[in-house]
Amino acid sequence: MLIVKKFGGTSVADKDRIFNVAKRCIRDYEAGNDVVVVLSAMGKYTDELIAKAKDINPNPPKREMDMLFTIGEQMSVSLMAMAMAQLGVRAVSLNAFQVPMRTTSAYGNARLKKIDTERIRRELDDRKIVIVTGFQGVNKYDDYTTLGRGGSDTTAVALAAVLHADACEIYTDVDGVYTADPRLVPTARKLESISYDEMLDLAALGAGVLHSRSVELAKKYGVQLVVRSSLNESEGTIVKGVGKKMERMLISGVALDREADRISVIGIADVPGSAFKLFHTLAKNNINVDIIIQSVGRDGTKDISFTVPHNNLDEAVELLNNCKDQLGFDHIEYNCDVVKLSVVGSGMMSHPGVAAKMFECLYNENININMIATSEIRITVLIPEKDALRAMNAVHDAFGLAE
Ligand code: ADP
Ligand code: ASP
Ligand code: MG
Repeated sequence: MLIVKKFGGTSVADKDRIFNVAKRCIRDYEAGNDVVVVLSAMGKYTDELIAKAKDINPNPPKREMDMLFTIGEQMSVSLMAMAMAQLGVRAVSLNAFQVPMRTTSAYGNARLKKIDTERIRRELDDRKIVIVTGFQGVNKYDDYTTLGRGGSDTTAVALAAVLHADACEIYTDVDGVYTADPRLVPTARKLESISYDEMLDLAALGAGVLHSRSVELAKKYGVQLVVRSSLNESEGTIVKGVGKKMERMLISGVALDREADRISVIGIADVPGSAFKLFHTLAKNNINVDIIIQSVGRDGTKDISFTVPHNNLDEAVELLNNCKDQLGFDHIEYNCDVVKLSVVGSGMMSHPGVAAKMFECLYNENININMIATSEIRITVLIPEKDALRAMNAVHDAFGLAE
């Protein structure tokens, strides 16, 4: 068997954990498997690198950020190879250049384009454990890029896909995927399995346990994932195509996204094409928009409100203000003290009343809803940040998800 095993920052945070991971990988290797290990930077090292960069320059060039980020993952993989050598096992660490893993050129948010498997295959054939840096890639200028925060999951799934791995295991600091972040909702329950689509929505809507693009890739290439703890032997959660049992699940989880901000474009011309021009301007600059609300037109103008990720707020406001004449609006307002709360579940499709139940629950908690968005399998509301935890716990328990 060929197994890809990915370990997040907490799982390799110190010497003991590095040896713990090394031993876990060696166990599979000694059972006769080919083992490819993907690692994140140790502990909160990536955050520390950001702090160091911002201390020098509050607005550092993105290319240089990626250059800096790569040392985090490089430290983990080399130390892991040393730990394995210390335990008497042949291992080799590889960074994105050595693999090589090619990406698009967007620094800080690159997408994997092509992974060469020859070097990895050669090392595996030579009976080595191959340890690869997560999160990083190389673009057409031969510069380092990164895949976005939490991107090591995506590296692991992409490697599993191109190597046709028999298993892809994502090891983290919780026992699997829960009905809500167990650190925020004490009654959250671990799921035995979850469908790609539900996991994709949960991840995209704030459940940081998996990078959402890793789930997208897993679905596209049919890579079955297991999310489990590196700190114990519990079974974890399987992420896969829809099975019979899963179809009965009305709601699979609740997700909170604290990174959403609201922008309102006030007094935009109420004519065909104004929404297109507005969102085209943002899309051209790679800014993702989520919930959108347009008011009814009045006196030839209307208001359009939408949410953007917090780290795009300044850029989005600037872009729109630069196009003020062309877009023909009066002014822009924005609000950062809001969060997105979502319930996700494929059973919703055939069960009316899920939205009403969520709104009733928020009403009972006296929480005001700013915006609403729905799809076949999710309902999202924008609510004040101060109510986030209370709302999340109430909604989670109202849908009977509590243990
Ligand atoms: P890693 O460093 O291993 O990649 P992350 O911090 O990226 O770990 O992801 C694990 C964290 O995801 C958990 O500690 C947990 O707080 C958070 N999380 C958010 N939503 C969920 C969920 N639905 N199920 C499990 N964990 C979740
Ligand atoms: N080290 C990177 C981060 O902290 C990538 C990852 O952990 O997946 O975002
Ligand atoms: Mg992660």
